[in-house]
Amino acid sequence: MRVIVIGSGIAGASTAYHLARAGADVVVVDALHDGRATDAGAGIVSPWTSRTLDGFQYDLADRSGAYYRELVGQLEEDSGQNCSFEIVGGMVVSADDDELAEVQQRVGARARISLYAGTVRRLDAAEARELFPPLAPGFGAVHVTGAGRVDGRVLRAALLNAAVARGARFHEGEARLRRTGDRVDGVELTDRAIEADAVVVAAGAWSSALLEPLGVRLAVTPQRGQISHFLLPDVDTSAWPVVLPTSSHYLLAFPGSRVVAGATRETGSGFDHRITAAGQQEVLDNALGVAPGLAESTLLETRIGFRPLSADGAPLLGPLDEHPEVYVVSGFGPTGLTLGPYAGYLAATELTGSAAPMDLSSLRPERISLP
Ligand SMILES: Cc1cc2nc3c(=O)[nH]c(=O)nc-3n(C[C@H](O)[C@H](O)[C@H](O)COP(=O)(O)OP(=O)(O)OC[C@H]3O[C@@H](n4cnc5c(N)ncnc54)[C@H](O)[C@@H]3O)c2cc1C
Repeated sequence: MRVIVIGSGIAGASTAYHLARAGADVVVVDALHDGRATDAGAGIVSPWTSRTLDGFQYDLADRSGAYYRELVGQLEEDSGQNCSFEIVGGMVVSADDDELAEVQQRVGARARISLYAGTVRRLDAAEARELFPPLAPGFGAVHVTGAGRVDGRVLRAALLNAAVARGARFHEGEARLRRTGDRVDGVELTDRAIEADAVVVAAGAWSSALLEPLGVRLAVTPQRGQISHFLLPDVDTSAWPVVLPTSSHYLLAFPGSRVVAGATRETGSGFDHRITAAGQQEVLDNALGVAPGLAESTLLETRIGFRPLSADGAPLLGPLDEHPEVYVVSGFGPTGLTLGPYAGYLAATELTGSAAPMDLSSLRPERISLP
C-alpha cells in the first residue's frame, strides 16, 4: 500500500513514521513554507495543567502525554538520534492564593487518575524561584512533576529520519491533489506526479487550501504565534521547569542557556509572516512581568508560526466523507506538539486497517466546515 503524506510538521512526520513502521510504502512531500508551526512551537507537553481541555479532548491529550513515554525509546532506536523530549516538571504560577488553590484542586484531581501526571504540590515563592530563578518574587506555584518539554524541530527530524530509515522517501515541493474520475489517486508536484492508494493531508494551517479543489471547506485557519528566545550566558537552564502563568503566556527553558517566552495568539492573521511591534511588545511585557530576571538576557530571535486552528478547537482526524482515500491529520491549534505524535500513530493505525485504540468519530474532519 502506497501512502503519500503531504506536510512534514509534527503531524505528517509522525504519521509517516508510524506508517513506515507498519510496512506501508510512504512518500512525504513538503513545500517547507515559512511559518511552519512545528518549527516555532514552544514545546510544552503538559495536558494535565490545561485550563481549557476537558471531556474527549482532555482524554486525547492525556493519552498523548502518556504516548510520549512509549515513543521516545522506540524512536531513538529507529532514528539513531536523541529526540529531545525531557520530563522537567511544570509550575503553574500566580500571586493569588485562591487561584493556586483552584489549580491545585483541578490538577490534583487529574493526577490522581492519570498515569503520568506525576505528583502535584504547592510551592511557596522561595521554592518556586529556586526552580526557576528569573521568576518575580511573590509568585507561588503548583508544581506538577510529569510535565515535559520537547524541541519540535528535533522531534520532527527524528521522526522523519526514522521514517526514511524504514524506507520512506522525502520530496521537497508544493503538492496538489491529483484526481482521476471520482478518486484522488496521488499528488502532482511541479515536475512530476506520484500515484498512491491513499493521501494524508497533514498540511497544518495550509490544509484547507489543499482540499478546496474537492469542494471541501475544511474548517482550519492560520493563527499567528510570535515567540521569543533568550540567552542567559553561563547559566545552566537545562533542568528548569516549564512556567505557566494563568494567562495564555508561558516560559520554558532548554539546554544551552536558552529560555523561550511565548506567545501571541493572533486569530485572523492570515499567512502574514512578520514580527510585529505589538506582537513583540506583548511577548516581552508578559515574559518580563512574570520573570523580571530575564531583563538582562540576550534577545536571540523571535519565531513566527501559524497554528492550524480548527473552528471548534478540536483536531481534525479521519477520512473525508466523499473521498475515504484522503485522510486528514490537522487542526491541532495550540497543542499540536503534544497531540501530534499520538495523532500520527492513530492515523497510521486506521490507514493500515487496524482499529484505533479510541473512538475517533467525533474528530471527523467534515463535522464542521468554513462558511
Ligand atoms: C508560537 C507557537 C507555540 C506553540 N507552543 C506549543 C506548545 O508549547 N505545546 C504544544 O503542544 N503545541 C504548541 N504549539 C502548536 C504546535 O506547534 C502546532 O499545533 C503543530 O506544530 C502543528 O503541526 P502540523 O504538522 O499540523 O503543522 P506544521 O508544522 O505547520 O506543518 C505543516 C507542513 O505542511 C507543509 N505544507 C503545507 N501545504 C503544503 C503543500 N501544498 N504541499 C506540501 N507541503 C505543504 C508545510 O510546509 C509544513 O511543513 C505552538 C504553536 C506556535 C505557533
